[in-house]
Amino acid sequence: MEYEAVIGLEVHAQLLTESKIFCGCSAAFGAAYNTHTCPVCTGMPGSLPVLNRKAVEFAIKLALATDSHVAPFSLFARKNYFYPDLPKGYQISQYELPLATNGSVEIPIPRTDGGKKRVGITRIHMEEDAGKLFHDEAKPFSYVDLNRTGVPLLEIVSEPDIRTPQEAADYLRVTRTILQYLGICDGNMEEGSFRCDANVSIRPTGSETFGTRTEVKNMNSFRHVERALAYEIERQKKVLDGGGAVVQETRLWDPQQGITEAMRGKEEAHDYRYFPDPDLVPLAIDPQWIEEIRKGLPELPLQRKERFTKEYQIPEYDAGVITTSKALADYYEECVRFFPEPKQVANWIMGDLLRLLKEDEKEVEASPLPPQHLAEMLGLMKDGIISGKIAKTVFEEMYKTGKGATEIVKEQGLVQITDEDALTKTVEEVLQNYQNEVAAYKSGKDKLFGFFVGQVMKATQGKANPQLVNEILKKHLH
Ligand SMILES: [Zn+2]
Repeated sequence: MEYEAVIGLEVHAQLLTESKIFCGCSAAFGAAYNTHTCPVCTGMPGSLPVLNRKAVEFAIKLALATDSHVAPFSLFARKNYFYPDLPKGYQISQYELPLATNGSVEIPIPRTDGGKKRVGITRIHMEEDAGKLFHDEAKPFSYVDLNRTGVPLLEIVSEPDIRTPQEAADYLRVTRTILQYLGICDGNMEEGSFRCDANVSIRPTGSETFGTRTEVKNMNSFRHVERALAYEIERQKKVLDGGGAVVQETRLWDPQQGITEAMRGKEEAHDYRYFPDPDLVPLAIDPQWIEEIRKGLPELPLQRKERFTKEYQIPEYDAGVITTSKALADYYEECVRFFPEPKQVANWIMGDLLRLLKEDEKEVEASPLPPQHLAEMLGLMKDGIISGKIAKTVFEEMYKTGKGATEIVKEQGLVQITDEDALTKTVEEVLQNYQNEVAAYKSGKDKLFGFFVGQVMKATQGKANPQLVNEILKKHLH
């Protein structure tokens, strides 16, 4: 039996507001435990929440950037449950009437030239985050840090439009990029400011009805999302092919073992007894405010990609790769400003820079090689001071040491040899050393020409100007 997967994603994005969603405490990450707390976010009786206007503004920004409908009227509800990281005994969240509905984002279709697929967004709602528990393995203790309690979150729920693990990762990348371009979430998956749960089911290919789904949690990188979903889809196939039935349950991804496991201990089928929070008035949004926010929206990834293809005349593929991250697109533009040959800059960034960053598991923000240095190196290449081959060495050296191109070229004596007399001498030596090959070449083995070029380059440690070597060799071999 052939199956197709049906995947829907729930993203939690932590907003970059200065203060929490219902109190004035700092929402910053990484402070000493329980220092960003007050009676409101620790749930002291009689304290009253007050909605953070900035958090609403950020939510509206995302709604507009994803073509969602902003509800003129939405409600905050209490989601009741007990857990030690939630001192109030309920989480304030939007439930029946969310802030925004019916949006979408476009993801690239792999191996097509600019093909796009629309993934629907069911809803975007605002809620508060819970605290964090730390379990001491050695002692029978757990600790709770309430700094995160009340930090504003957006929950972004997609339609079940996703069919493959790769599409899921693409959807997450696009969503994260939009959040970053809007400047409302840093998108850091490791620190948990961008988290994702997935609903996964499979059905016979061509069928319209949904299969029983499982919820997969604990995936904290794009790679883990892809691996976890691929595993879960295979697992469900085996269950069905073996004559069994998929059980609706929450499963945790275990990155060490590379498997998903049914979650134990926590109740399934919660009844949260949602009801409107009596301490908060309904959220009524002035349409004029929405229009003001719309006018102030920054350039978004797709618009920037289009601008790059027009303004810099680079292929759509290149523009797509470079604009996937705001920081990378900024890096690119900075570099082009110093060295206005856009396609060449794109090639070096997409090739060498991204490769080295990937090897180091670094983001471009942490690149030890600033855009000015890349531009400087390209300038040296253009002026014929270094060859393309040496440029590769210089690039790696710049990346390793953080030094500029000119400095490295000087230090290591990498200046290209364009002195015809010096190169002629080297050519003559090479031909002297390979007399048999020279004879073979003269009797018709044309292919040996490349061999001679290679030997001259080797003798000069790659510093010879290749064009000049070609010319001199031709003269000597005729
Ligand atoms: Zn507080």
